[in-house]
Amino acid sequence: MSISSKLVHNFSAGPSALPKKVIEIIKTDFPNWNKSGMSIIEVSHRSKEFVDVSLEAERSLRKLLNIPDNYHVLFLQGGASLQFSMIPMNLSNSDSSVDYAVTGSWGNKAVAEAKKFTNVNIVCDSSASGYTSIINEEEWIKDEKSDYVHITSNETIAGVEYHFDPETNGVPLITDASSTLLSRSLDVNRYGLIYAGAQKNIGPAGLTIVIIENSLIKNNKAKIPAMLDYRNYIEKQSMYNTPPVFSWYVAGLVFEYLIDLGGLEVVEKTNIKKSNLLYDFIDNSDFYSNPVEKSCRSRMNIPFLLKDKDLENTFLIDSFKAGLANLKGHRSVGGMRASIYNAIEVEAVKDLISFMKDFEQKYG
Ligand SMILES: *Cc1c(COP(=O)(O)O)cnc(C)c1O
Repeated sequence: MSISSKLVHNFSAGPSALPKKVIEIIKTDFPNWNKSGMSIIEVSHRSKEFVDVSLEAERSLRKLLNIPDNYHVLFLQGGASLQFSMIPMNLSNSDSSVDYAVTGSWGNKAVAEAKKFTNVNIVCDSSASGYTSIINEEEWIKDEKSDYVHITSNETIAGVEYHFDPETNGVPLITDASSTLLSRSLDVNRYGLIYAGAQKNIGPAGLTIVIIENSLIKNNKAKIPAMLDYRNYIEKQSMYNTPPVFSWYVAGLVFEYLIDLGGLEVVEKTNIKKSNLLYDFIDNSDFYSNPVEKSCRSRMNIPFLLKDKDLENTFLIDSFKAGLANLKGHRSVGGMRASIYNAIEVEAVKDLISFMKDFEQKYG
């Protein structure tokens, strides 16, 4: 099915929209990259040209997030999901324990993997609210002997985001930041490890960013397969084997684009504006609703329900025709979801709201 309108707003949860300017650069530079007569996906990852691109991407990311020198930045594969395994494998072992705060389905998946390698203590789990809230930090049952505390900064499916960094009293804090990284400023110093699959705010799928503090890397006695051992990637500048060269290159372009916009403070302001517009509209309507507690609503993924469930299909068909693509909610929660990552402009959110108003008038 193709969209007739020229202007398409892509609200996909991931892989998701990239900045149009970045798409333009790729398009222009691809066939004859760096005047080499080749594209970037055809040159050796060990060539000076590609190594320069890879180092520049790291420099830009360090600048954007203000990453201190005592952190390694790794460009890996396997998605955020592989980190669900690599983290407990590398940072814990069968005689110790780890803490997990569960605020949705990604957190649950991370727990399931961790249980294969270590003892998991669930510090909080908001399933009783249908994962529409985060349990007050004072009620968390933390274990100060844990190897780390793991949170999910933004649960992409239900749209639940932390607007605080939990206090872990010296225990390393780890976050799955797949759908928040680069959407806001972040105090890296508060975390031992931050990871994200690229396909939300960073670039094409296939790349995973891991930012890890030096002292977490220990000589773990467990036998870890080479491809799953952080030490090998640290030693080889993320080129233990052939890295995802295209995704890495595009991520570098996205980082530069965000720096040119003015950095993450500017990006965050725009994201606050965009999400407020949509939440305010939904909250003031009797026709649409969002079930998430206000204190932990996501700025990136905004699920919403229609008063009349039978209209969902019509909503999806009509919105698609109007150039508003990929608004279907995740199959596990139903309804609609607008993912409004960095590449979604304020105008796109306004167009969505205007469509929602018209739809309500027609069917409400
Ligand atoms: C998308 C997503 C994942 C899964 O990412 P993959 O790269 O597909 O493994 C994990 N956690 C969160 C929070 C996500 O948004």
